[in-house]
Amino acid sequence: MIFVLSGPSGSGKTTLRDLLLKDKSVKNKFVKSVSFSTRPRRPGEKEGRDYFFVSQGEFCRLKRARKILEWTKYLGYYYGTKKELVEDALKEGKDVLLCLDFKGMRRVKKIYPKKTKTIFIVPPSIQELHKRIKGRSLETKDEEVGERVNLAKRELENISLYDFTLRNVNLKQAVKGLKDIVLKRSVV
Ligand code: 5GP
Repeated sequence: MIFVLSGPSGSGKTTLRDLLLKDKSVKNKFVKSVSFSTRPRRPGEKEGRDYFFVSQGEFCRLKRARKILEWTKYLGYYYGTKKELVEDALKEGKDVLLCLDFKGMRRVKKIYPKKTKTIFIVPPSIQELHKRIKGRSLETKDEEVGERVNLAKRELENISLYDFTLRNVNLKQAVKGLKDIVLKRSVV
């Protein structure tokens, strides 16, 4: 199976994914998809763990060489799923967990319609989202915070197009909810 996690910037989807992957019952069954990205690395982020950070030229080369399964442009930067990683995981019989925007979700669902389950992470409120985005070092510029919040509002409009929605108010409960979805493949 392929599980796609989407949600606005600041919804906590990557934190949820990382906590889920630390869980003993999940750990060895799932592969985390690490994407290529042309955006600058934030403090604390690691090459190969958070993203494969590449230049725009390198990203175009990878795209031309068909090494990218799907891609998007987000606030001027390119992001793309490493095709090989997804294909190898599926060949090994493992489940894959991807964090993608709406465009990526639609594309992966189109490529793997039967294998893909999609989950939208809902933030507690727009005010809380604003606070979380502002708290990130790279995005403290008011302009970018505003852009991310506006994009978040637009992403929330697509919520009905996902298989599952999960409210991330309490992190512990949200991890449990996510675990229920990916292990039992059922609605929570
Ligand atoms: P951020 O800059 O906050 O890490 O990511 C910005 C947005 O791009 C998030 O919604 C994230 O889920 C999405 N994203 C990250 N990697 C990919 C990717 O490979 N493909 C697509 N379609 N979206 C991605």
